[in-house]
Amino acid sequence: MLKIMMTPLTKKMLFISFSLLFFLTLHLLFTHHFTYPTQLSPMLYPGLTILLTSMYGILACLLFMRVYCDSKRFYLIAVAFGFSGSALFTTGTLISFPGWFTSDSNVTDNYNNAAIFFLFRQILLSGLCCFTALLYAAKAKLDCVKLRRTCLMLIAGFTLVILSVGYLYSSFDPSLSLSLIDNETLDWEILWHEKIGYLMLAIWFITLGLIIHVSQIKTLLWLGIAILCVAESGTLIIILTNTHATSTAWFYSRLFDVFSTGIILLVLLTDVFRLYQRSYQNYQLSYHKAMHDPLSGLYNRSYLFEHIQQYLLAASEAQPVSIVLCDLDHFKKINDRYGHVQGDKVIRFIGQQLMNSIRNHDIAARLGGEEFILVLNTTNNVNAMNIACRIQSAIAERSRQEVVNGLAEPVTMSMGVYTVTEANCTIEECLERADQAMYRAKKEGRNRVVNYH
Ligand code: GH3
Ligand code: MG
Ligand code: MG
Repeated sequence: MLKIMMTPLTKKMLFISFSLLFFLTLHLLFTHHFTYPTQLSPMLYPGLTILLTSMYGILACLLFMRVYCDSKRFYLIAVAFGFSGSALFTTGTLISFPGWFTSDSNVTDNYNNAAIFFLFRQILLSGLCCFTALLYAAKAKLDCVKLRRTCLMLIAGFTLVILSVGYLYSSFDPSLSLSLIDNETLDWEILWHEKIGYLMLAIWFITLGLIIHVSQIKTLLWLGIAILCVAESGTLIIILTNTHATSTAWFYSRLFDVFSTGIILLVLLTDVFRLYQRSYQNYQLSYHKAMHDPLSGLYNRSYLFEHIQQYLLAASEAQPVSIVLCDLDHFKKINDRYGHVQGDKVIRFIGQQLMNSIRNHDIAARLGGEEFILVLNTTNNVNAMNIACRIQSAIAERSRQEVVNGLAEPVTMSMGVYTVTEANCTIEECLERADQAMYRAKKEGRNRVVNYH
């Protein structure tokens, strides 16, 4: 198969080129083939702004939760603050257009305020995206709690400053106001068109470069953040190519915002889903490990003691529970003659045989060493004796056959059977009685099954 080798620089250039091409195509499509649906205009732009505000809020919550659950992702705290602040700025935008929410003709929409909130949102978001990249680059050092606290305070402080300055410069405070749009003519002012707009564009390009350089876009989340940078640059280009604050330009730029934020939201939801899936698999694996003996593959002692109780409590004449205690004969000799590795092979073989000999609702466990136990639910004494005899002769027979496949030598087992027919028998009493029967089997010559009397 032909493999194209790409250097990291080529990858970065390709990403930027493809993204710009994509947004340029979208822009051309919008400007040449679609017209702003004026009949929808009273609700479309505010609708998109409300959608954007909600998405920012959801994104911020998801990111804060992500950081809270996984301290290794502390670097995401910066972008989480970025989205929280952005939600507040877009709320400010909604407040700047009171005409959207009332039929009162006396209220006037404040385009200049919306532009100021737009500008400060861009400053906040780009600044905190850069912070995220820098924190990611220094993530090895972020184990230090003191450093994390300092970073957190810096980020929160930066967010607060930008929010306050944004609020003060909007015309909520008449003494401090930026003039970006003439509210009468709806023309963009020189300050925006010749200075701030292009400066903001340059800041987004720097942010994008930093993000790509630091993260190498290794994960979907970084891809989402990079797409956000490209979309924000696209948004700015659309606004800068219009000298007039037309509803069309506002609409397209907001659509880009919604589009890129939607991508990040989708990426984050996928990330959360994967995280849940992985932690569930890990939980299942560790539960399995905690309940099973790693050598024989059978249940371990703690599983046995946890679950045998419920069987014994339900035991009666009609629903007897039989306990079969099994001990390998002369197992020490196998270890002594062939070594422990061969001894372990025998234990694995026995585990397999016992597992295959019982039903789903029975328990086969390794008590320890070369001792095993079977708990046969709703099985009377006669049936339990038959099952035990069948297993005992099957092990002797199969182990003989297994010698050709590498088993050290044929092995046999001695078994003691005790059947519980009343609910007041304790675990200790049951094990004691099955053990007595098993020792009688040993005494009587091994490789046999003895019933408790
Ligand atoms: P008996 O027929 O009287 O039961 O004789 P035995 O040799 O089987 O009994 P004994 O209790 O004297 O020996 C049990 C041996 O099992 C001793 C110990 O080295 C071995 N053993 C216990 N756990 C393991 C294990 O996990 N792996 C291996 N290879 N050997 C084990
Ligand atoms: Mg033993
Ligand atoms: Mg033994």
